[in-house]
Amino acid sequence: MDGSFGRVDISELPLVGGHAALDLVNTLERGVPAPGADPRDHLSDPAALLVWARRAGLVDAAEGEAVAGAWEGDPGVAWAALAAVRDVRESLHVGLLATAGLAPVDEAALSAALDRLHCRWVAAAGRSALERVARGAAAVRLVVGVAPAMLVPDRAADSALDVLRTADVARLRRCPLEGGGCGWVFLDRSRNGSRKWCRMADCGTEVKARRLTERRRAARAGRGEGAADG
Ligand SMILES: [Zn+2]
Repeated sequence: MDGSFGRVDISELPLVGGHAALDLVNTLERGVPAPGADPRDHLSDPAALLVWARRAGLVDAAEGEAVAGAWEGDPGVAWAALAAVRDVRESLHVGLLATAGLAPVDEAALSAALDRLHCRWVAAAGRSALERVARGAAAVRLVVGVAPAMLVPDRAADSALDVLRTADVARLRRCPLEGGGCGWVFLDRSRNGSRKWCRMADCGTEVKARRLTERRRAARAGRGEGAADG
């Protein structure tokens, strides 16, 4: 498997963020794309989005069927939902980079991103309902997303706010682009907080292999130069 996941199907895309909203950020490749190419978006169409939303736990099976029904009846609204999710995703990414100090982000960009997230959350709140809890410690619960057509973006906005408001910033990591990683974000839940790669089996191993190749190449070049000099 190559590190870019260019050929990975959405049904197999690794979910390694430790939070659904972080996995959402990781549905876009965060590495450096080939010159002239856009980074690959694994949420390529509404169908891919729905597969991912089920896997990430944003919607359950019954909700997924309701979403599919609403989208089949109105493809325009399905694409609007996808656009809304992508907006949440990119706003959240900027918010995470800035608030967790993962990458330099200017204040204007952060402010704009948080404004967009707030707008998405306001819309989601408008499509939510309070439900009475018949037997439980709480009197009511908040059900986010009561309109199937926009259920996925509404849950995504809710999840994005949750991670920004509750995640331990000191545990937020980005798979190190400068070290050959992929730029995905994740919560480091290791006991000593030493997790560096999003997936050791992929990014970590690949970087190690690349370093070995580079060392060998440098050693060969060094020998070549020595021969030329002598
Ligand atoms: Zn990675």
